[in-house]
Amino acid sequence: MFRIDLLPAEYGDAIWLEYGQRRRIHRLLIDCGTAAVYPRIRERILALPEGQRHFELLVVTHVDLDHIGGALALLRDSASLGVSFGEIWFNGYMHLSAGGTVPPAAADDTLGPLQGEELSDLIVANGRQRWNAVVQGGALVVPADGPLPLLASLPGGMRLTLLSPRQEQLTALRPVWDAACRKAGIVPGIVAADDSRRLEEGDAEPESDDLLGDPDPEQLAARPYRPDRARPNGSSIALLAEYGGRRALLTGDAYAEVLLASLARLPGNAGGRFAVDACKLSHHGSRGNTSSELVRALQCRNWLVSSNGKQFRHPDGEAIARVLRDSGGNARLHFNYRSEFNEMWSSTALQRRYRYSTSYPAGDAAGVQLELSQRSSR
Ligand SMILES: [Zn+2]
Repeated sequence: MFRIDLLPAEYGDAIWLEYGQRRRIHRLLIDCGTAAVYPRIRERILALPEGQRHFELLVVTHVDLDHIGGALALLRDSASLGVSFGEIWFNGYMHLSAGGTVPPAAADDTLGPLQGEELSDLIVANGRQRWNAVVQGGALVVPADGPLPLLASLPGGMRLTLLSPRQEQLTALRPVWDAACRKAGIVPGIVAADDSRRLEEGDAEPESDDLLGDPDPEQLAARPYRPDRARPNGSSIALLAEYGGRRALLTGDAYAEVLLASLARLPGNAGGRFAVDACKLSHHGSRGNTSSELVRALQCRNWLVSSNGKQFRHPDGEAIARVLRDSGGNARLHFNYRSEFNEMWSSTALQRRYRYSTSYPAGDAAGVQLELSQRSSR
């Protein structure tokens, strides 16, 4: 089995992945939403038998409150929960410079920016040797050229290939790291002020949509595409996850252009649409992170959107419209909340015209689960 569970993570991401055979289920966790999401994650972990509270991998894709907040709480709580992680992947300050690695214990007092940045401290407290262990403590960064190598083969056979970030996105984050950490609330003593973030993210100016009647995908998809420039988003770890002949794209808040360039470098990509079974829309379905080009580079049935619409009014109609227009039909949209920003896509007239279907959760606490059955047709 290969199951993707998009937990209700407020306006962020918290992705609980399970894979394996009936007798031996493996887990990994990608992001943990805002701090408010943590109690749900805690509950899920406590529901596991004590001997099974293990994740092969915890990934914190990038320094943004809606991905990191719950991870801070989880790592603070890990001992009392009895939860363990085979590896923890996160690019910290030292990884933003080319060649930077997790320093040895003896060097902790010379770390400078590491100190006071709580997530890095917590990862060290959970086992320094686990931090980006797959690259010996170095940065998780897409190689400059050549076919993309397999990054990791996790216990049980989950294969992960890194699609983002490249060194240029890590380098670009360096001068704004402190500000990004303060915004994410991971510098102690400073309260996160995320109310003002929409403007700062360059994601403002929502164009007035016609709220009466169905949206017009043609018109929405034809709006000019302006790529996301928010540097923390660009630094997102994005992964291609493969298990049992099934593939999922887990994009964090990565740039569409970086994803597109990486997809083209995948060894199995012959240049047509690259077949995946599921794609989580980057940056909660923001219009700046899903280009028509990216959608056209994929042959994908299941498109996942993680957002309750708060803060940033995600998903944007433009991103969904590009999926409907450019994915080649038969798309299925999976939302982990029903909100005023996504319920317009439930229109049966639209679904008939654009040959797609939708799935909404039963309630705000349900999230969305997608089971990728093994080796049937994509
Ligand atoms: Zn986000």
